[in-house]
Amino acid sequence: MKARSTFSISIERLKLRHTFTIARGSQDETPVVILSLRSGDHEGFGESSPSSFYGETVESVVESLEREREFIESADLDHYEHVLEEASERFGHSRAALCAFDTAVHDLASRRLGHPLWRLLGLDPARVPVSSFTIGLDSTERMVEKLREADRYPVIKIKLGTDRDLEIVRALREVSQATFRVDANCAWSAEEAIEKSRELASLGVEFIEQPLPPEAIDDMERVHRESALPVVADENAVVPEDVPKLAGRFHGINIKLVKCGGLRPARRMVETARALGLRVMYGCMIESSVLISAAAQIGALADWLDLDGNVLITNDPFRGVENRDGRLILPEGWVERR
Ligand code: MG
Repeated sequence: MKARSTFSISIERLKLRHTFTIARGSQDETPVVILSLRSGDHEGFGESSPSSFYGETVESVVESLEREREFIESADLDHYEHVLEEASERFGHSRAALCAFDTAVHDLASRRLGHPLWRLLGLDPARVPVSSFTIGLDSTERMVEKLREADRYPVIKIKLGTDRDLEIVRALREVSQATFRVDANCAWSAEEAIEKSRELASLGVEFIEQPLPPEAIDDMERVHRESALPVVADENAVVPEDVPKLAGRFHGINIKLVKCGGLRPARRMVETARALGLRVMYGCMIESSVLISAAAQIGALADWLDLDGNVLITNDPFRGVENRDGRLILPEGWVERR
């Protein structure tokens, strides 16, 4: 007999510890979709934290999931790889909805099999890289204060994209010896990126994330050649099909479950990136421990992690992977509701 399931959807409003600002705007609170999938005695959780930058909202995610209710509830979960292949076609462009379904399916499957996913995949939790902690944009003084509050984190990701980017990094370097990474969130030109890379390299920055807007991908060939630092694609690295064209334009890719549609497409992106000699990073949106824990399951496959979404919020409805000063401790079990 096929293993079938029932599902329910809830919207949780995650509250941010600090107003979070990047080059595109600010937020104090963010809604996410939690998908609970039940089969027999087991309940698996999935999550989606959709971004309007990719044309998705919690409403559009709920709508896509409801539209596929019959498919979801009749899917044979014993053969979930095939279910997710079909889901990928059914959900089409709604990668955020696919992400909620894919992560719930993986969580439920691993519970039914009795081991967390990292163990089923044969991954060594000791190989999960240290995650960065993100400092959002603010006045330079406030960013220095936020960094002081975060001094227990050995790797810091700094949001940039202002007319005082170098001033910010200089000021932060004066108070910290942490590894720095910077994210321009598409705000620079090719010339700016190449020029800024030189001083950023001398300030001990490790890499630059998405310096140019995604449509300027051809200019990235020059940046890739002339930048003093590696450049990592984020807004240019959405789904697996994006990866081949990033070789020769970026040194690495930032994979986010909600951009690509969950763990299955994320693993496909990892494999494609590796085949092309690209480095691999996992990032996140503002997310609860459901989605952060899902990404952490395959954390050992990445070179760099930026999985801090659940430590930037004050009302995480779940408990899962534990962030100990940037070190991600994978649970022996699964995420639980608080
Ligand atoms: Mg980014």
